[in-house]
Amino acid sequence: MARCDLADWYGKSTATTDRPFQITYLFQRQRPIFEHNTPHKKPALGAILRDTSLLQRLILVLAITLPIALAIWSSWQHHIQTLERANRTAARSVVALEQHVGNVLDIHTLALRQLDALTNGRTVSEISNDVRLRDIVSALTRDFPQISIVGMADANGRIWLHSVRGAASGASVADRDYFLAQKTGTSKGIYISDAFTGRLNGERQFGISLPRFSPTGEFDGIIYTTVPLKYLTQFWEHFTPSQGHLIPLVKSDGTLIIRYPLADPPRRLSPQNPFMVHMHQAPRGLYTAASAFDGVERINAYSQIRNYPLYISFSIETAFVLREWWQQTTIAASMAIFSALLLAALWLAVVRQSHEQRVSTERWRVIAQDLRQEVGRRKDAEEAMRQSQKMEAVGQLAGGIAHDFNNLLAALVGNVQLMHRRIEKGVFDNLPRYLTRVESIISKASAMTQRLLAFSRRQTLAPAPLDVKERIAAMRDLIAHSVGPSIRVQTVFAPETCHTLCDPNQLDSVLLNLAINARDAMPDGGDLTITVALNSLTALQARALQLSEAAYVVVKVKDTGAGMTPETIERAFEPFFTTKPSGQGTGLGLSMVYGFVMQSGGQVKIDSQPGSGTEVAIYLPVYEGEIPSATPVPKAINSDVAKGEVCILLVDDEISVREPLAELLTELGYQVVQAGDGAQGLVILSSNQQVDLLISDVGLPGHMNGRQLADAGRTLRPTLRVLFITGYADKAASADGLAGQNMEVMIKPFGLNEFAIKVSDMTSVRASAEKR
Ligand code: ADP
Ligand code: MG
Repeated sequence: MARCDLADWYGKSTATTDRPFQITYLFQRQRPIFEHNTPHKKPALGAILRDTSLLQRLILVLAITLPIALAIWSSWQHHIQTLERANRTAARSVVALEQHVGNVLDIHTLALRQLDALTNGRTVSEISNDVRLRDIVSALTRDFPQISIVGMADANGRIWLHSVRGAASGASVADRDYFLAQKTGTSKGIYISDAFTGRLNGERQFGISLPRFSPTGEFDGIIYTTVPLKYLTQFWEHFTPSQGHLIPLVKSDGTLIIRYPLADPPRRLSPQNPFMVHMHQAPRGLYTAASAFDGVERINAYSQIRNYPLYISFSIETAFVLREWWQQTTIAASMAIFSALLLAALWLAVVRQSHEQRVSTERWRVIAQDLRQEVGRRKDAEEAMRQSQKMEAVGQLAGGIAHDFNNLLAALVGNVQLMHRRIEKGVFDNLPRYLTRVESIISKASAMTQRLLAFSRRQTLAPAPLDVKERIAAMRDLIAHSVGPSIRVQTVFAPETCHTLCDPNQLDSVLLNLAINARDAMPDGGDLTITVALNSLTALQARALQLSEAAYVVVKVKDTGAGMTPETIERAFEPFFTTKPSGQGTGLGLSMVYGFVMQSGGQVKIDSQPGSGTEVAIYLPVYEGEIPSATPVPKAINSDVAKGEVCILLVDDEISVREPLAELLTELGYQVVQAGDGAQGLVILSSNQQVDLLISDVGLPGHMNGRQLADAGRTLRPTLRVLFITGYADKAASADGLAGQNMEVMIKPFGLNEFAIKVSDMTSVRASAEKR
């Protein structure tokens, strides 16, 4: 009967677009939140480098260039020092060499001058026969290893005296340059010859000659000595390591006497030869140049030997000098490159790590942002869903009400029209039947609005302290009767007192509703167990039940029926929600239970699973006070009272409500004064008009509602009795607020009979009081 869905209410389009839209919206939004967190490839070097700061790049450049620059600088320094050291060595060495050769030449010069002095002015035969002279000559060659030959030759170059033992006289030096130079007079005094191989001793040597003159001053041959090259080279050996060194001995005219340790053939240096150029500039010096002979670059330190026309040089190959430097430089360079690479690698590792850290921080930031957005989206979606559900529930409620009322109205219209037709036709016999039907329709409508009000917790409850066990025990038979014989009803009560404060009639309705639901769930019979117990909730339980931590009377209604799916449980309390076939379920049973329990300060929970039965638990706050012994039974109208003496002020803005009531009251014999709002009512109350009872609607138009009117009336007439008639309990008309001394409430719609009894009760009190 009350089945209705959104499609009926909103029209098909809403029903098909609204919810499905929400659902697709939710699903479209489902994308993996952690898609950024997929394992990533190692970042490319280019990407890392692009990500570095200027400072980091500067550090990299320094890391690479600094060690290399340092190595270059130090090796350059070392290079300079090495060459300087070689220069110094050469310079020092040449000094020693010059000393040595100078000494040799001095000895020769001394010997020549001595012999000249001994032989001067004497004839060849005189000299030949001078034994002492001969001894001196042979002693010279014997005692001085630096002198290999001492000899004398005549003007034709024939040797007539010499120191070489065993060699025959008569050999000639006529072709030797040391003879020719003296003979031709090119030499003035001491002459140093080119190197040659001696005819008397077969040794490499060079000669030193002094001319002799006859008493008449004519050229009379020469005195000469020879210097064995071996004597010099033996000494030079100490100066020259195995390689890279050279000692040239050169005459000032460029004739090369020896170039130790090389066995070069005799040569003459050209005037452009660097040695020649330098020796003509200064008697001693230092220069580096490539050799004209072998093209090898050398560091050369040279010196003139005393004042002799002879120069000696100590030459070191630059390449030889730099060989060690080069080795050290190679090691240093390798180390520099290695350390630069190491630093670069270290830098790269650090930069890569910081890059990765930045990237992952960024990734997490994006994820966090995504999460926030996702949370926001979900919240929005949930909100939209909730809103849509709310709208659906409201739609369902409105649709259900409209549907049910339409049914009731249709029935009313039908019956009323039938009555009309009969009355028109003058047929009255069936009218009571129709009227009974109309009354029954009205009571159905009234029951429906009651339950709706119960759900919306706007019902005017009349709470009273009661013993739950007692109330349920009283209900047992009615329940058993309602569920039928196939269902066994059991009640299990805890021994404790289970008092609560609630509307007893509503509690009855709750139990009946639950029992009927249980019956519907057990079409083939089963067990229905109602338990009542006392339960002091722990903080945890209270929180879970959204109740305060206190003691509650717990009523459990348990069946062994079909049970409920989670979806059904979720919606079971919605008004008009039903799973029952059309005509069987109203969907208002559990919503009424919910509204009542909530309004009574309690809670209701469903525990159920499909196939395992259902247990509905109701929690009602424990009442600690006293319980009145018995509830008064309804009475019949007290007709004893002299109603004509009683005056009632009836205030209601709804004329269709007020008029029938006024009519009824007049019919019952009361005097009735009517008012349409609070202000009018107050005017009457302020006048001298007798008012024994004020019957007022609570919700009145204007500035004064029923409650305020009653209060104002009470200040004017303190004993004024008041009966409120109200459609629902708003704040002003809450049961607590309305109840009081000589104040009562009736909830619309009510039967006239019921109304008459109430009025009679309230006025008879006055009457009996007055009688006494
Ligand atoms: P109605 O009984 O008119 O359908 P209710 O508000 O009383 O309306 O219940 C709503 C729905 O909750 C029912 O249609 C039914 O599906 C489910 N329900 C209620 N009580 C029970 C129960 N004891 N066992 C199984 N299902 C139940
Ligand atoms: Mg029901």
